[in-house]
Amino acid sequence: MEHVARGRNYIDGRWEEGDGTALEVRDPATGDVVALVPDSTEQDVDRAVSAARRAWNSWRWVNPTVRAGYLHAAGDALAAAKVQVAAAITREMGKPIPEATGEVEKLAKTFHFYAEEATRITGATLPNEEDGFTSLVEKEPIGVVAAITPWNYPVELIGWKLCAALAAGCTIVVKPSEYTPSAAIEVFRCLEAVELPAGVANLVTGAGATGRALVAHPAISKVAFTGSAATGEAIFKTVSGVKPLSMELGGNCPLIVTARADIDQAVAGALRRSFRNAGQICIAINRAYVHADLYEEFVQRLAKAAEGLVVGDGLREDDVDVGPVTNVEILERCERHVADARSKGARVLVGGARPGDRPVGNYYLPTVLADCTQDMQVMHEETFGPVIGVSPYDDLESAIELANSTPAGLAAYVYSEDLSEVFALGRRLDFGSVAVNNVDAGTINAPYGGRKGSGFGYEHGREGMEGYLQMKHVRVRHRS
Ligand code: NAD
Repeated sequence: MEHVARGRNYIDGRWEEGDGTALEVRDPATGDVVALVPDSTEQDVDRAVSAARRAWNSWRWVNPTVRAGYLHAAGDALAAAKVQVAAAITREMGKPIPEATGEVEKLAKTFHFYAEEATRITGATLPNEEDGFTSLVEKEPIGVVAAITPWNYPVELIGWKLCAALAAGCTIVVKPSEYTPSAAIEVFRCLEAVELPAGVANLVTGAGATGRALVAHPAISKVAFTGSAATGEAIFKTVSGVKPLSMELGGNCPLIVTARADIDQAVAGALRRSFRNAGQICIAINRAYVHADLYEEFVQRLAKAAEGLVVGDGLREDDVDVGPVTNVEILERCERHVADARSKGARVLVGGARPGDRPVGNYYLPTVLADCTQDMQVMHEETFGPVIGVSPYDDLESAIELANSTPAGLAAYVYSEDLSEVFALGRRLDFGSVAVNNVDAGTINAPYGGRKGSGFGYEHGREGMEGYLQMKHVRVRHRS
């Protein structure tokens, strides 16, 4: 039995016990309780929002270079704490330590990126149709942000909101996933260490009810949400008043491998983007459409590579590629999608089961399903686990149609060495990101967001900060 950590809320610059009961957090590799954190109540949420509202009255006027200084310092503090932050991530959601460390390092860079952006918030001076007038367009922070995040990237998904909001001059209340509160607490320790003014960034842990209370709070100015489409819809119904929302929702991302693809690269890309983080990535490749000429070679090579992945406990074992999935719902969804595909005629080339040698923990073997058809769940619903469905196609037009045929519009992937195909697919795929001959659809300086059922609004890049700013037109009559 591991040591059970006691986490607390961070409100108005102080660590607080919550008013409610404690929430148990489990290690997905062992099932043991590893942390107890507040299941925060409406009162806890109200204290956090009120603190953020008070702090906004001064933070909004703090010189951007000073805001940048805090963000740079927090990025440095986070990089220095990466070992313990990464361990907190792995202990609660299972990704192997090197992946968790990479996540922390990327978040540290995000702090520095938005520190720089804070100093580049610019407006415009516009000519008027009448002499003696000047129009100034200024950008101002929106106010208090409610950030609600999932568990698959427990610190990065907080960071994209936190860094951009603080850079813009907003204050924030973060409600992390109930599966991964300790990683969030570690990030807030870094904010405390750099003496960010009290109330500028607040943390309330808890489950869905805590998120509901936060969204419903009338003093919130904007809701920034990342999570499932179902919760996104619930938030629409709960939010109080009229206010901006950003919704980064689920994906169901297709890969198209054309007859002109480099098959070595396509297999390597599919392996990485289907099984990294045990497939628990909103932009994971769920389904692949492969030209008939390459199809059998592609599925056989992908299955062989997937079989070679080491499944294990990413906290206590070395050289693990795929850890346990974070919760039992994901495990059961993998089983459901595989059973459904099997019953409709798919070939299970590898995986398709929990590993026999690991009776404890939420483990599921990397799974490649061949000969899939679009009616199979794996081809039109997000699995969010280490499962990929593959289907052959004969003409590219039908592959594009199938790729676009689901409600998801987050990211799509293409492998092709043919420039005409690359441009055609880049234009025709109806997704917020299209990655061609690579599977890293997001970079920090380019806008990242979904369309259709995958939501709206952008994170990353300058656009990621614009969502926390509002414009003001000041029209000055100066007579000269
Ligand atoms: P989830 O929707 O179950 O939970 C997300 C967060 O919402 C949690 O903090 C949860 O406590 C909170 N919540 C639950 N009910 C709520 C309510 N009624 N009101 C307010 N908050 C509420 O999602 P999850 O299982 O944690 O995460 C997986 C999902 O997130 C997947 O669908 C995945 O694709 C998506 N995701 C999307 C992106 C993206 O950038 N588009 C990134 C990562 C994950």
